[in-house]
Amino acid sequence: MTEKDFLKNKIDKYSRFLKRDLTKNEEKLLSKLTSEIEHLTDEDKKRIKKEILSGSLEEKIVRSKMLIIDWYCKYDGKVYVSFSGGKDSTVLLHLVRSIFPDVPAVFADTGLEYPEIKEFVKTIENVTVIRPKMSFKQVLEKYGFPIISKEQSQYIEQYKNAKSEKTKNTRWNGNKWGQGKISEKWKYLVNAPFKITDKCCNVFKKDPFKRYEKETRRKPIVGVMAGESSQRLVYYLKGECNAFNAKRPISKPIFFWNEVDVWKYIRDFNVSFSKIYNMGYERTGCMFCMFGTHHDEKGNTRFHKMKKTHPKLYNYCMDKLGLKKVLDIYLKRDFEKD
Ligand code: SF4
Repeated sequence: MTEKDFLKNKIDKYSRFLKRDLTKNEEKLLSKLTSEIEHLTDEDKKRIKKEILSGSLEEKIVRSKMLIIDWYCKYDGKVYVSFSGGKDSTVLLHLVRSIFPDVPAVFADTGLEYPEIKEFVKTIENVTVIRPKMSFKQVLEKYGFPIISKEQSQYIEQYKNAKSEKTKNTRWNGNKWGQGKISEKWKYLVNAPFKITDKCCNVFKKDPFKRYEKETRRKPIVGVMAGESSQRLVYYLKGECNAFNAKRPISKPIFFWNEVDVWKYIRDFNVSFSKIYNMGYERTGCMFCMFGTHHDEKGNTRFHKMKKTHPKLYNYCMDKLGLKKVLDIYLKRDFEKD
């Protein structure tokens, strides 16, 4: 197939799904994004991906819609949107339903969401709610507390439970390239009087979604963005937004968006969003999660905000779940007196 035919096919396909002719500008963007992505070398693809990252919102919307249509077609519409009630997945859902209004949204009710998020989710149509098999309290008792980061909590847990000296040594000193070890600044936590774990996300998010996918055979569309971490940025430059061949196929059609794009889309398309964002929160997610608390501004962590906005829940997690004791040791200070 010539490049011209290839492009014509793409234009026909997208206009069919969008139920209208593409504008001249959209055709131009499509030709730029499609032909380049499909035909260039890995190095060139990387360059184009970087250009998309810094492109306009209009370009990104075209690219995202292409990805959504390709994903939907590949699985005959047996897809779903992973919907957290936060602004990113709200925008994603709006984008997907602007083309395919019947795609279900799936919300994992972990019991750890802000009440405002749960209220907002109730206002959205066609949402399937899935639930974990354990409560947060049970996870804390059985596995431990999620602190620092997914990677470091895993290393600490593996170091403490290692059956072989080799694993213990790798987690303490790293492999031959010095990788895979507990960072020097967190080594004191191997002696903390509480368990530390990375398993929480498996119980609350991964496993319920896996069960849902097994039951429905639907494939996920998720609202993650590359700029959220340097690791994701590397993955974006190396991998595919529509990972058809991954062990668990997954679509990330807004992978190349950023915060500014999301807010601009919300404004431009008048999308409603959870009022939690009007209460001083920039990020949502699990209320009691301690991952990354050391990056929060001293005296103004997410928990300090929670104390003001949701005092009852704050008292519950600090006293009943024991987060105060954990935070004091993790942050090496009397956290409440910050
Ligand atoms: S984000 Fe934090 S609290 Fe939520 S499931 Fe993952 S580790 Fe647990």
